[in-house]
Amino acid sequence: MSQPYFIMEYEVKIHPLNAKGKYYVDCDSCLDHCCYDVFPAYFKWDEDSCSTYVFKQPETPQEEAECKEAMEYCPVEAIRDDGKI
Ligand code: SF4
Repeated sequence: MSQPYFIMEYEVKIHPLNAKGKYYVDCDSCLDHCCYDVFPAYFKWDEDSCSTYVFKQPETPQEEAECKEAMEYCPVEAIRDDGKI
């Protein structure tokens, strides 16, 4: 007998200060300001919303690699790279 499964619908909330581009932080998933500490060239902490946001999108292959590294660094997968460009 097959097991029932459930698919949850989840609406991602992009921070309003997020720089336009494909990288963003899901505000509702973000826990603290750890990526701001490790990757300060791309992320800033917003005290009011208790969330980090992307303030600079990558422009070079090196910066792209650093943003990918930040995605892997995030413990809750709150950093995404499928935003509108
Ligand atoms: S690493 Fe993830 S949880 Fe931590 S501040 Fe960045 S987006 Fe938020």
